[in-house]
Amino acid sequence: MQPFIDNARSFRQQTAARPEEFARLAEGQAPQALFITCSDSRVIPSLITGARPGELFELRTAGNIVPPYTLARPTSEAATIEYAVEVLGVNDVVVCGHSHCGAVGALVRGEDLTAVPAVRDWLAHAAPRPGDATAPDDPTVADAVQSHVLAQILRLRSYPCIGPRLEAGELRLHAWFYEIHTGTVLAHRPHADTFVAL
Ligand code: ZN
Repeated sequence: MQPFIDNARSFRQQTAARPEEFARLAEGQAPQALFITCSDSRVIPSLITGARPGELFELRTAGNIVPPYTLARPTSEAATIEYAVEVLGVNDVVVCGHSHCGAVGALVRGEDLTAVPAVRDWLAHAAPRPGDATAPDDPTVADAVQSHVLAQILRLRSYPCIGPRLEAGELRLHAWFYEIHTGTVLAHRPHADTFVAL
């Protein structure tokens, strides 16, 4: 932890080298995209995309799960998505799953999660698609994660702030898969229904 504290302590001096950039950030944010990905510490959206501060609105959840939209029981995730689309007006939403995902792996392997009931109940939102091709012993769980990402994209389409904008051509959804062992990013190509490297 100490290196993080040391860096935070000196961060202000680091930003002093580019005062105009940081002063501009104080005027407001106009991110280009909403990036939804896993909380996994190995996935760093700004590192992958090269986004600068203010360019990427992020939502990170265990297993990059997008929960159902219900007004009766609003979630932080739905609030973040709604704010990004309705208020910030982002035109692109990325759902980025990743290889070696512990959350998806737990689902694929049917792990006993009784000791972590919040995790168990959260992962129940994943609604894994039947017919998953991933073998339980595949450490990358690539097929399962890719299928899982597409399930989250479907979930997003059901959000009231998303569906109409898609139909109007005002919003684009992107399904990505990040390989943490190679750094390769793959994107889903709807016409071929397959993930290929960007
Ligand atoms: Zn993960």
